[in-house]
Parts: sequence; C-alpha cells; structure tokens
Amino acid sequence: MTTLSGGCRCGKIRYTCDTAPITVSFCYCTDCQKASGGPFCNYAVVPAEAVTVNQGATVHYTVEASTGNVVKREFCAHCGAPLFASTNNVFVITVGSLDDPSTVPPAIAIWLDSAQPWAPIPENVERFARNPPITLGA
Ligand SMILES: [Zn+2]
Ligand SMILES: [Zn+2]
Repeated sequence: MTTLSGGCRCGKIRYTCDTAPITVSFCYCTDCQKASGGPFCNYAVVPAEAVTVNQGATVHYTVEASTGNVVKREFCAHCGAPLFASTNNVFVITVGSLDDPSTVPPAIAIWLDSAQPWAPIPENVERFARNPPITLGA
C-alpha cells in the first residue's frame, strides 16, 4: 500500500513509500546547511526498503559527516531537487519532495549544537543537541 508519494521538481523521478514515517526531523547540522542552502534540512525517516523509485533514477554523491558517517545524498540530475539521504543505518526522504508534505509535520529537531543562532526551531518538537537515538528495524 502506498502511504507516501513524491518526486523531483521536474517530474522525471517519481517514488512511493509504503509506510508512514518513523519520525520527521529538522536537521541543523553543518552538512545539511550546505546541502540545502538554508539553515536546516527537513526529512522523513523511513525504512530504506519501503521506498520504491517508480520512474527515473537518482544520481548521488557521498560526503563524510562530522561524526565520520558517510552520507549519501541522492538528487535529480536534471532539476537538482534533493530526494533522499542515507547512512548505513538511516534512510530519509526530503519532506519537500512529497506530493503532500502537509501530512508530515516535524517531530524532532536535531544537531541544534550547530544551528545558526537565528535559525527558526518549531516549538512542539523534541530537541537534540546532536544525533537522536534512532535505530531503524532490527
Ligand atoms: Zn527532476
Ligand atoms: Zn543534517
């Protein structure tokens, strides 16, 4: 069953996700600031196996985050829209790429240690200085 669907800005890439998000984050880490061009990234954390790319294909690059984790960032080669990011144990969808982001409000704010002093932080979210204790699946 498709719970979430989305795609890139130009429409060449379409995906579905067959489960609701495990959590939804605003991430203020310096890597997310560089990746987004803004003060944070907004992600829905889902099991990687729940996501199916139905049309087109992403391209990606990898970067080493401050934790030493290697982060893979997937985007559309035509329009540049960021779609997915992953490490070896976490997979996320960019909330802005969803067809209906209105149903996916943020639940946590993470890496507040590196947030810009002027960055907006939602009021009713759980706050973490760095990574939250998320473990996905087994
Ligand atoms: Zn595109
Ligand atoms: Zn981040």
